[in-house]
Amino acid sequence: MKRAFLSTIVLVVGIVPSLTNAQTPQKPDRQVAVTIDDLPAGMADRLPASQITAMTTKLLGTLRDQKIPVVGFVNEKKLFKSGEADERIKALQMWLDYGFDLGNHTFSHASLNQIGLKDWEDDVLQGESVLKILLASHKMKLRYFRHPYLDTGRDLLTRRNAEAFLVERGYRIAPITLDGWDWAFAGIYEDAKQRNDTAMEQQIVKDYLAYHDAVFAYDEQLSKTVVGYEPKQILLLHASNLEADHIGELLDLIRKRGYRFITLEDALGDSAYSLPDTYVGEEGTGWLEHWAITQGKIPQGAPKFPQWVLDRSKELRLSTGQVAAPTPY
Ligand SMILES: [Zn+2]
Repeated sequence: MKRAFLSTIVLVVGIVPSLTNAQTPQKPDRQVAVTIDDLPAGMADRLPASQITAMTTKLLGTLRDQKIPVVGFVNEKKLFKSGEADERIKALQMWLDYGFDLGNHTFSHASLNQIGLKDWEDDVLQGESVLKILLASHKMKLRYFRHPYLDTGRDLLTRRNAEAFLVERGYRIAPITLDGWDWAFAGIYEDAKQRNDTAMEQQIVKDYLAYHDAVFAYDEQLSKTVVGYEPKQILLLHASNLEADHIGELLDLIRKRGYRFITLEDALGDSAYSLPDTYVGEEGTGWLEHWAITQGKIPQGAPKFPQWVLDRSKELRLSTGQVAAPTPY
C-alpha cells in the first residue's frame, strides 16, 4: 500500500515539469559569434611553449567537439621567444588545422590610444607576416582585425584614418558586443592552478561564470534600448588556461540563455554593425556602448566586476592591460 502511494506521488511529480514547460514562453532565438584574442596565449610571456601547446590542444578540442565557429586574434610578437618560435608557431597553426580562422590583433598589442597612427599602422603590418603564410597554406586569406584593448582612437580623425587604412589592407574590423573580462579572471586562475589551490580555482570559475551571465543579461537589455532588438552578438574571450579548462561550462551557460553559435561573418551581416558610431574615448569599450554614446544615451546599471579579483590581480602584480608581450629574443 505504501509502495503504491509512493509511485502515485512519483507519477504526479513527473507530470508537473512537462506542464511547466508547456506554459513557458519559447526561448528567444539568440545568436552569438565567439572570438578569442591574444593568441597564442594571453600570458605567453609567463608560459613555456609546451604549456601553450597543451592549453591550445585542450581549448580547441572542446570548441571542435561542440562545433563552435571561432576566429582567434593573434599578436605575433608572442611567437618570437628564443628557442621556442617553432613550437609557438605550431600552436598557432593548430587553430587552422582544427578548422578555425585567424585574424590580426597587431604585432605587439599596441594601443591606438597610446601611440601615433603611423607607428600603430606599422604594428598592424608587422602583425601579418606569419599569419599570411599560415593562412595561405590553408588556402585562406587574412580577413579580420581586432583593435588591442578595443582602443579605436582618442579622436575621430585618428579613428577614421585607422579604419580607412585597415579597409584598404582588406580587413574587416571585428567589433565586440559581449565582454565578461575573462582575462582578469584568467590571470589569477593561472596562479591558483600553478599553486594547486583548487578552492581558489573553484571560486574564480564560479565568479567568472556568474559575471558572464550578468553581462549577457545586461547587454541583452542594452541591445533593446540602443539597437531596438538583440542583434547577432559578438563575444570577446582570451586564450588562457581558464578558457581551456572551463569554456565548456561557459558555452552551456550561453546555450541556456537561448543562444546558438554562428560565424563572425554571419554576425557581421547584422545591420546593427552599420549603425552610426562616432565613439571616441580614452577607454576602449564594446560596440553597444559605442552606439549608445553616439545616440546620446549613457549606459547605466552595468554589473559590478568582483572587486576581490582585481585586488588579487594587484597582489600578484598582474597587468590589468590584458597582455604583457615578451621582448623578442
Ligand atoms: Zn588583446
